[in-house]
Amino acid sequence: MEPYYDPDASLEILRKKTLGIIGYGNQGRAQALNLRDSGLEVIVGSLRDETAGQAEKDGFVVRSVAEVAERADVIALLIPDEVQREVYNDVLRTRLRGGQTLDFAHGYNIHFGLIAPPPDVDVIMVAPRMIGTEVRESFVAGRGAPAFIAVAQDASGHALETALAWARGIGATRAGAFKTTFAEETELDLFQEQAVWPLLFRTWTTAFEMLVEKGFPPEMVALEMYGSGEAAEIFREMARVGFFKQTRFHSQTSQYGTLTRASAIPFAKEIGDFMDKALAGIRDGRFDAEWRKEQAAGYPVFKKLRAQADSHPINNAEVEMRRLLRIKSE
Ligand code: NDP
Repeated sequence: MEPYYDPDASLEILRKKTLGIIGYGNQGRAQALNLRDSGLEVIVGSLRDETAGQAEKDGFVVRSVAEVAERADVIALLIPDEVQREVYNDVLRTRLRGGQTLDFAHGYNIHFGLIAPPPDVDVIMVAPRMIGTEVRESFVAGRGAPAFIAVAQDASGHALETALAWARGIGATRAGAFKTTFAEETELDLFQEQAVWPLLFRTWTTAFEMLVEKGFPPEMVALEMYGSGEAAEIFREMARVGFFKQTRFHSQTSQYGTLTRASAIPFAKEIGDFMDKALAGIRDGRFDAEWRKEQAAGYPVFKKLRAQADSHPINNAEVEMRRLLRIKSE
């Protein structure tokens, strides 16, 4: 899989065009600033005013979403995935015209058919594999953040060229822009969220609960598990030198303990089955149906689980841990 780098992507196709960013949050702000710094003309569209103020402070003229839909040649929908369909149906659908490009930073709504743009519009995705602040900071530092790019609809015959130019404008081709599909990006993203992170979350909360029950001080457990930043450092080193290679930075006792116990986990098959089930539910649309039902009902399960998480004793342990480390609590 060969990514595209700067020399493979020209900004030319975007030079005489107006780029419309709808939503000025995590991705919206980072992408708008990077594209402007790349010498392109950017306008920002906002429905509400919370982030509109930030866009104005950053020197953008903020327009209504409807105006951006009418004026922009490329429209990036950078608002939360759950509201994209509503904004598309209420404002964009009747205004889109042939020759425009609709850009996404995640494939969800197109992949699951929640948004179905007219056939004469190009539909592309430039999905940074990084949170917005880092998309901006890495651009300013000259590195750029990698991205997945894809084309779902190529009415003009130049959709890939546009996606590459956008990727270059936000700095992604400095690091590498990997061509994929909306389906693959969506499935990988959801799989990580639904099959990998849950295991880690459950492992750490179970470890915390068990160790505290056995008498270990809660703040010490939180410090050991992730509070010192060592865990974050391990993840950074996994990306930098390698998943297994980073184990060499730890003592032999640590390496031996981890490798022997990992290879002998008695429920490895169950983990595989859990992951299989998660992927199947993503692929056959069951997760999407469940999530839309949850949204329509006003998020009852989500709210309950968030409340449970907010009242978990690990929160108090962290406050105490930060007090002892003299770190200001968020
Ligand atoms: P944010 O949650 O940061 O988006 C906030 C922006 O959307 C604000 O401008 C907000 O306006 C606006 N907004 C919120 N609700 C509505 C609404 N109902 N109608 C209109 N505007 C609304 O989004 P992200 O940047 O996190 O995500 C944007 C896209 O990027 C998504 O597709 C996401 O999957 C993708 N993505 C996100 C990443 C990230 O860094 N978080 C990483 C990679 C991809 P106001 O403040 O005025 O309410």
